[in-house]
Amino acid sequence: MNKYRIWLSPPHMEGAEIRYIQDAFLTNWIAPVGPHITAFEKGLSDYLGGVHCVALNSGTSAIHLALLLCGVKNGDEVICSSLTFAGTCYPIAYLGAQPVFVDSEKDTWNMCPELLKRAIEDRLRLRGKKPAAIIVVHLYGMPARLNEVLKIAREYEIPVIEDAAESLGSRYFGKLTGTCGDLGIFSFNGNKIITTSGGGALVSFNPEFVRTARFLATQARDPAPHYEHSQIGFNYRLSNICAAVGVGQLEVLDNRISRRRAIFEFYKQHLNPEVKFQEEPEGFFSNRWLSVIYTRSRDKIINGLASFGIEARPVWKPMHLQPVFRQCFAYLSGVAEDLFQNGVCLPSGSSLTETEQAEIVEIVNKLVC
Ligand SMILES: *Cc1c(COP(=O)(O)O)cnc(C)c1O
Repeated sequence: MNKYRIWLSPPHMEGAEIRYIQDAFLTNWIAPVGPHITAFEKGLSDYLGGVHCVALNSGTSAIHLALLLCGVKNGDEVICSSLTFAGTCYPIAYLGAQPVFVDSEKDTWNMCPELLKRAIEDRLRLRGKKPAAIIVVHLYGMPARLNEVLKIAREYEIPVIEDAAESLGSRYFGKLTGTCGDLGIFSFNGNKIITTSGGGALVSFNPEFVRTARFLATQARDPAPHYEHSQIGFNYRLSNICAAVGVGQLEVLDNRISRRRAIFEFYKQHLNPEVKFQEEPEGFFSNRWLSVIYTRSRDKIINGLASFGIEARPVWKPMHLQPVFRQCFAYLSGVAEDLFQNGVCLPSGSSLTETEQAEIVEIVNKLVC
């Protein structure tokens, strides 16, 4: 278990979490229902400007439900950022649909709007049918070019799901990521900016979407004294114990964002000027979930840090290069593959100390050529 002394993005508890868990035990709400779930949903909804919200057991299940709400069916195509974690696109396959991958653009590392447009037009021309949904990812906390993406999506009347698993608290021209598209999803997995150990949420300003998601996530039980089912349901609700952790974590979310941003600034100031970063364009505000550098010495840095017990990782391997998605269509420019070849995610946890960070900087500076 203790392979590393310094992890990439470990959980960071504040202290209140354990007290909320004790509350849950004392009141015996040890179930996927209870007051902490309600409080967590309320807290998240308030933080996100009053958006409707349902707490779920993972970000992946949130994407699965979001796709169902968009009406994605067997044989459909769904457009998806290629540079992401597999959890973004697995649910497309759960529905018997096909992902169509779109490459990144250089500035934000996120979905390239021009390639998105080309992909939609090409799919329309070749299949006579438009993609059923678009999943746009805000990678490492950096917002995607939402104005451009949403404008294209509206032009073709395709619903947009924002995968904000990594970008809770990030802003795009003042608007919080996850609340700009038709639906947004968040993850509270152990490595994310705040965690419920494992968990997720689906949000939308459309109350009907969130009502239906809550219904489907609790085994699609029709109103009746017995168990009556007219649709296929899922067991996707968050546990009250996990929600208790989330209530405590939400209280310190803004501190976590400031700390992660300070970590990024420290790397930027102290690393060799050869090293490049994922920069915020004008109007973009990233929560800096992970500080990622672009260098020509990816493996040297990762192995060098590992020899000191420090975890670093390559950027996500693009989905169009994954064996399991090899047969899928992809609209490419080479940007995502280049970022994968040269990007390194550095330790970015909000509990990282300045001494530890100085040590990382010293090691990396010796390794970059
Ligand atoms: C973590 C993550 C997910 C999946 O969330 P889980 O809660 O782990 O299921 C989806 N997309 C992205 C971009 C992620 O980073």
